[in-house]
Amino acid sequence: MGKDGITRRDFLNGTRIAIGATLMAPWSKLLADDVVLPADYYPPAKTGLRGNHNGSWEVMHARVRGQTWPVGAPEEQYDLIVVGGGISGLSAARFYRQRKADARILILDNHDDFGGHAKRNEFPINGQTRIGYGGTESIDTPSAYSEPAKRTLIEIGIDTKKFYEAFDQTLYAKLGLARAIVFDQENFGQQKLVTGYGKRPWEEFARLAPFNEQARKDFVRIQTEQTDYLPGLSREQRYEKLRRISYEAFLREYCKVDPQLLEFWRKWGISFWCVGIDQIPCTLIHDYDGGMPGLDHTLPRYHSRGDEPYIFHFPDGNASLARLLVRALIPAAMPGNTMEDVVTTRADYSQLDRKGSPVRIRLNSTAVNVRHTADNKAVDVTYVNGGKPHTVRTARCIMACYNMAIPYIIPDLPDSQKKGLAYGVKVPLTYTKVLVPNWRPFAELKMDFVYYTKDFYKQVELDYPVTIGKYKRSQTPDEPMILHMCYVHHDTVHKGPELWREGRRRLLATPFSVFESHVKDQLNQALSSAGFDADRDIKAITVNRWSHGYAYEPNLIWEPDYASEAEKPWVIGRQPFGRIAIANSDSAAQADTNAAITQAFRAVQEVAG
Ligand SMILES: Cc1cc2nc3c(=O)[nH]c(=O)nc-3n(C[C@H](O)[C@H](O)[C@H](O)COP(=O)(O)OP(=O)(O)OC[C@H]3O[C@@H](n4cnc5c(N)ncnc54)[C@H](O)[C@@H]3O)c2cc1C
Repeated sequence: MGKDGITRRDFLNGTRIAIGATLMAPWSKLLADDVVLPADYYPPAKTGLRGNHNGSWEVMHARVRGQTWPVGAPEEQYDLIVVGGGISGLSAARFYRQRKADARILILDNHDDFGGHAKRNEFPINGQTRIGYGGTESIDTPSAYSEPAKRTLIEIGIDTKKFYEAFDQTLYAKLGLARAIVFDQENFGQQKLVTGYGKRPWEEFARLAPFNEQARKDFVRIQTEQTDYLPGLSREQRYEKLRRISYEAFLREYCKVDPQLLEFWRKWGISFWCVGIDQIPCTLIHDYDGGMPGLDHTLPRYHSRGDEPYIFHFPDGNASLARLLVRALIPAAMPGNTMEDVVTTRADYSQLDRKGSPVRIRLNSTAVNVRHTADNKAVDVTYVNGGKPHTVRTARCIMACYNMAIPYIIPDLPDSQKKGLAYGVKVPLTYTKVLVPNWRPFAELKMDFVYYTKDFYKQVELDYPVTIGKYKRSQTPDEPMILHMCYVHHDTVHKGPELWREGRRRLLATPFSVFESHVKDQLNQALSSAGFDADRDIKAITVNRWSHGYAYEPNLIWEPDYASEAEKPWVIGRQPFGRIAIANSDSAAQADTNAAITQAFRAVQEVAG
């Protein structure tokens, strides 16, 4: 009996299949009995602490602390075992099946749901279901995807052009909504909500803001000036210089703004890079949010997304993409056949791990040991489910899990490779979803996004307005809405990846009640002047706690330059090891869907031969 009352078949007491020393293809004729989840098993409907939920991380943490489990005689055999059921792992299984149509595949994941960061949150209200994204939200800039990733989207049924219709790009602007700021007491002398950031004339906004006199002048100056702070330098020279200067240093040393403004923008990009502006190079942050004050006339925009808007969003974010991948692998688990119907179809979890199914997804299962057999003709994968170890054998294995955990799972790897894998510290962050019965206070206060200069949650925003298939966006401010709130730990003591290690420690130690009290307090701060009452108006909260969130990206201020591609730690880390290949967005050091799919493609090429 698991924590959630889920009974899983105990292989040790069930029918054990004797497996001879010599493996005969097709291996997976020798499959264990069904491992069927109950019909009412439905994790998207859970609220409370989700993401890296309790029950998902304890086994791996025990492994890191030194615990081991016995490698038993193999209970089942497969052609491919994929460790990690995120977009990369699911894509790897699909690519492999494209190359070997009769391959039998097992996907293991330590969570109670598939998709990795691509998670779906559902909330019932007024006889309808509102759908939210628990992690990865959008297919960002699909035109820049690799060829295998583009092809994947098309083959699983996603036509990105349809989002131009589905996503209402003007809804909030037509209602006159804009960004608002909650200034904090510590830095600004009073807690104050000021609306209309970017909409009101800058002088007017500055007048309303609780800035000191110098900060007020400097704010207007850098929002409106046309100053080139690096005259005489070529475009390349500017780029080279500014990629080594943090935005904080630029504001302080070049724009010479009052220190209060450093606190104003301190956490501006923190939901994206998960560090303060003292760690973000000017070249990066300038591409965020339509450009940053002070930089406009100094640095030409380099990496603009061009004409492609940020609209490629299913109501559950990229969970729909994961669900479409599951549909491609196990059609019975995801009824329907279009990108529209996948949004509202109910996944049948009891179909995920069926005996006889060519592809099986086994949830609640943490891989703790992966090693080649003595004759190197196969790989034994030991995983823990319901507290018990199980060993399964496979001809090939793809590790699509967190790369930093792989050295503990495959102790036989060379030390240099282990070092490369360990380099990419995962970045912790939290997406909290809050169900409210209406969004009238936002409409009345004319805001769709609130930035908090110094508080637990960095922001609250209205949901992306997407209507797709039978799912309709919240049509008017009188209808229910899922608010999105983002929390990233920040302090001024820890720098670089140490900040993320500290953030992870804190995240895992923070109970739901603390998230809840910050949600209530911060929503009251922003909305109570329009009649909002957190105790009355919050109907549900789901905290998607990603202690192992974004893949490490080597673009922040501390990253050294590498002489060649081959010297990059993540490239060293992702090298194939016998019958084992390494995928996941971590292996590209790039936290996005494109990387997750592209790395899966590479890994399959490496193992499929
Ligand atoms: C909050 C958040 C928002 C994001 N937003 C976007 C976005 O808008 N657009 C975008 O493109 N990308 C976004 N990303 C990046 C996202 O990580 C990637 O796009 C992609 O979903 C990663 O997929 P993956 O399969 O590589 O990794 P993951 O999704 O992390 O999947 C790996 C899986 O392996 C499992 N695993 C780990 N260890 C083990 C083990 N020992 N045994 C079994 N299973 C294990 C993990 O638990 C996980 O389920 C976001 C990420 C986060 C956290």
